[in-house]
Amino acid sequence: MNVLLYYCYTNIEDTEHYYNQHKNFCASLDLKGRIIIADQGLNGTVSGPEEDCIKYMNFVKSDDRFKKVDFKIDICNEHLFEKMSIKIKQYLIKLGIDIDPNEDTGIHLEPKEFYQMMQEDDTVVLDVRSNYEHYVGKFKDSVTLNMKNFYDFPNKIKEHDLFKNKINMEKKILTCCTGGIKCETASAYLKKIGFKNVYQLHGGIIKYGIEKQGKDFDGKCYVFDGRITKEVNIVNPKTITKCHICKIDCNIMVNCMNAVCDKHITMCEDCFKNMEGCCCLECITSEKMRTKIPDYYKEINSNKNLVNKSDL
Ligand SMILES: [Zn+2]
Ligand SMILES: [Zn+2]
Repeated sequence: MNVLLYYCYTNIEDTEHYYNQHKNFCASLDLKGRIIIADQGLNGTVSGPEEDCIKYMNFVKSDDRFKKVDFKIDICNEHLFEKMSIKIKQYLIKLGIDIDPNEDTGIHLEPKEFYQMMQEDDTVVLDVRSNYEHYVGKFKDSVTLNMKNFYDFPNKIKEHDLFKNKINMEKKILTCCTGGIKCETASAYLKKIGFKNVYQLHGGIIKYGIEKQGKDFDGKCYVFDGRITKEVNIVNPKTITKCHICKIDCNIMVNCMNAVCDKHITMCEDCFKNMEGCCCLECITSEKMRTKIPDYYKEINSNKNLVNKSDL
């Protein structure tokens, strides 16, 4: 099985038509995931058998508008989504401000170039992801913002010293995010408000993991599929989070098993067993417990302790 992560900013004039075409083609394949089609382009994450992923990539690229799309391809054991969802939306990424990366955006850096520039003086790595994402992993010495959602970005950057202290407007700002799509919008916005030297990590942390082995990325990368996080650094990995319950070093992130709570927490294997995958005692008594056990948990429970509770 493969998982594909991709986006492509390009003008789509006939979104409805493209949506139908896309949907019909996908119906012929065993793919699951999330695809968004907007006037500004295409964004998706899908999982499926390798041959179906190849057919899908060929289908997307066969359309001239999407020739430049860059697929990040990863291997997985099973589908990472419950179903396939294809939607037409107004924007690929919602920022609450009218920004079109098709018009202007930061200079794209390939992982190697990004790493090199990161070493230079007067460079700031700016993580444009939300709290739950950079909490579990981020570039060493990077600047993170206190954001609940990506659309907090305009306000949070304006409150930050980087912006308030005008001397910083000349610094090289290197933005990063999971797969690169948020950087398209965020770096366009940074240019709009006056930053002079704006760059973005092309393909995001995922591509950086593949091509630069994740060097100097501390922790794990949050991903928007059933895996929740992904290991990217095989050069100098480091754990930056602690178990939510017992506070030992731990970088395993789970969704609280109480579907109503659904909080993202880091929790060690022992605590996961003791707490039945919940963030607190109150959640254990919930009547809306999710039944799908996270992958890593299935692995550590191959000796079956608690697994019989669910309909695995
Ligand atoms: Zn623990
Ligand atoms: Zn909870």
